[in-house]
Parts: sequence; structure tokens; C-alpha cells
Amino acid sequence: MNLPRTGIGIDIHAFAAAEAPAPLWLAGLLWEGERGLSGHSDGDAVAHAAADALFSAAGVGDLGTHFGTDRPEYAGASGVRLLGEAARIVRDAGFEIGNIAVQFIGNRPKFSPRRAEAEAVLSEAAGAPVSVSATTSDGLGFPGRDEGITAMATALVVRRERPGATSPELTGRDTLEP
Ligand SMILES: [Zn+2]
Repeated sequence: MNLPRTGIGIDIHAFAAAEAPAPLWLAGLLWEGERGLSGHSDGDAVAHAAADALFSAAGVGDLGTHFGTDRPEYAGASGVRLLGEAARIVRDAGFEIGNIAVQFIGNRPKFSPRRAEAEAVLSEAAGAPVSVSATTSDGLGFPGRDEGITAMATALVVRRERPGATSPELTGRDTLEP
């Protein structure tokens, strides 16, 4: 019997300096009028944490292993693209993806009005349900000082019974939540 495997992913990005403004991409969405996050990619901490949790659950390394600076083809890639690639890599390694849950810690953006939109984009990329929630640090630490955002994710995967075989009931769009 193949028991489910959990994984964890944490990603932190600082907000871009005022003299080097960037658009804010978070949870697969562009947030107009919000200060962006810095990083060698789009800085989408939510998508990055989700991808890292997938790798962790499958035991196939981490973001640096697969998308590090030695892989220039991923330089500047969107978080959504990296999440989609991570899901493909994990499936190719013989796993089905159960779900991914992400929570980010930051004062902004105000997330709840766009939560469903974000979950739809990320679930589409992963081919599995992705839920996203948000909280603050009660003013403490770097999230409380508006210096950056932390995202933490868990993922659940199950190794396929027969390597290379795909269970029809675990794939396909009908497993996605609206
Ligand atoms: Zn990141």
C-alpha cells in the first residue's frame, strides 16, 4: 500500500526597494498598485512555496535543485510556470498530487477579495486543488514592518501503484475545485 506523503515549502521575498519598483505578482495574480517583491524571478512567494512543498512531498529535492541559477531557462520564469513545471516533475517521478495548501504572512495585499481567483489560477497550474489563505504577524518581524512576505505550504502526494500508470480518477480537470 502506498501511503500519502506530505511535504513542506517555505519561501520569503523582500518587497522591492522604492527606487527599483516592480509589479507585485503573488499567488499567480498581478496586484495593480501594490509594491512588488524582489527576487531573480517574479518573487511570487506563494507559488514558489507551493512548488517547493510538492518537491518535498515527493522527495525529489527543492526549488534550487530544479530551477536554480544553473538552469538559465527558468530565469525570470513566473511562479505559476514554476508550479506547473514542479507538478509535471513530481508526476513524472511517479506521484499523483492530492492537494496543496499555502498560507502567506504579510500585511498586504488584502487577499480575501481575490482568494478564489488565485486558487483557480494555481489549481489550474498544479492540476490539483490549491488552497491559499493569508494572515499577519500582528505587526511583529519583517512581515509586520512591511519589509517582505513569507509563504508556507504543505502538499500531499501518493506514489502510483504501478510506475508509469496513471489513475484516471486522480487526474483530469474534474478533480479541481471551483
Ligand atoms: Zn521565491
